[in-house]
Amino acid sequence: DNFSGLNDAFGVALGNRILGALIEPLRQAFPPPAMLARVTADLFAVIGPAEQIDSTQAMTVFEQPLRLDNTLYRLTACTTELTLDAVAGNADELLRAAWTSLRAAKQRGPGTRVAYDPDIERQAGERFALMSRLGQDLQRDALFLVFQPQVCLSTGRIVGAEALLRWRTDAGLIPPGEFIPVAEKSVYIHAIGDRVVQQACEALKAIDAAGLNDLPLSVNVSARQFDAPGLAERVAAHCAEAGVELHRLALEITETAAMRNFSQVAQALRAHRAAGGIVAIDDFGTGQSSLEYLRDLPADHLKIDLSFVRHLEQDERCRQIASMIIKLGRSLGVGLIAEGVETRGQADWLRDNGCQTGQGWLFAKPLPLPEFIDFCRQ
Ligand code: C2E
Ligand code: CA
Ligand code: CA
Ligand code: CA
Repeated sequence: DNFSGLNDAFGVALGNRILGALIEPLRQAFPPPAMLARVTADLFAVIGPAEQIDSTQAMTVFEQPLRLDNTLYRLTACTTELTLDAVAGNADELLRAAWTSLRAAKQRGPGTRVAYDPDIERQAGERFALMSRLGQDLQRDALFLVFQPQVCLSTGRIVGAEALLRWRTDAGLIPPGEFIPVAEKSVYIHAIGDRVVQQACEALKAIDAAGLNDLPLSVNVSARQFDAPGLAERVAAHCAEAGVELHRLALEITETAAMRNFSQVAQALRAHRAAGGIVAIDDFGTGQSSLEYLRDLPADHLKIDLSFVRHLEQDERCRQIASMIIKLGRSLGVGLIAEGVETRGQADWLRDNGCQTGQGWLFAKPLPLPEFIDFCRQ
């Protein structure tokens, strides 16, 4: 399920067929009980139509042409090193272990080497279990949104809210930081993303019905949601279906996420804005992005990350950085939203230094919709 850009039913089917096609040649190349055969298998990153593969990227130890649906694919093995004696000694075991190690290596990032051990297998098993529970719960509305007010720092008025996802399970609430990264490695992230936008649109209707005139909401969008084209169009379709105007819905994307897939993300965000939607750059200042990205990334708001807000009162350097972000935002003509505001002192400093909007426990924790609506009425 981990194909770059092929993370859908087709990708999975293709993956299975490729695995099937690999097993026999591997068996012949390393007949059991082979000793210390070094096998490398990146079944994921470097498959693609043969002419698009740059074979210099990979140390090729194994190649196999494969025709699928009239396209010639060349499978190039690389990245994960494994010795046959580390596993039971047959090709199927070897491939499975290669697959597991490879996933672990990918999770740790480019250039890492992971030696297979059963512990990795266990962790992969836990992730897999979480993922399959997530798949089932998607059908059962166990995922729901809570809403955290965003407050004008000069007047105290509520000017919007961020929708944050929650997953209710028998074992209690699982925080998004735990399941979103897992979901991002599966096809579920698309269904989850759609569900979030849909629920946000429903919430906007409830907000209107409660007479809270035109309060906007923002939702978090994962970089993976941009892998499938037409994100802006899908968001617009959900809004139209619910009868809410697009300018009521902001998409929050982190700069790190945007950089992963820059041209596609920028294009979708431009389309969203051109249709009247709002874009916020989340966790601003925490990624490794350069200002060059900011130049080309269309945005209406920058969100100052809570890591800068947290130490505002104690740490002069944090104040300098926050102040620089605010100046940058103002000179670019974008709105500034500080997240993680927990103290009056932080809120005052932010207001005095030109940040209009704050969000954080000082004002309210993320609230279920009825409580959020009550909170706005007070
Ligand atoms: P984020 O977008 O940066 O969201 C802000 C996080 O800070 C939220 O954590 C929020 O509950 C928390 N927070 C708010 N005020 C305060 C405060 O005053 N102090 C402190 N210490 N924390 C505060 P949460 O809800 O656990 O969400 C974590 C992350 O999960 C989010 O970070 C976002 O990246 C991701 N996430 C949440 N909902 C969704 C979603 O619907 N889709 C996607 N793709 N990601 C989501
Ligand atoms: Ca956010
Ligand atoms: Ca954030
Ligand atoms: Ca954050």
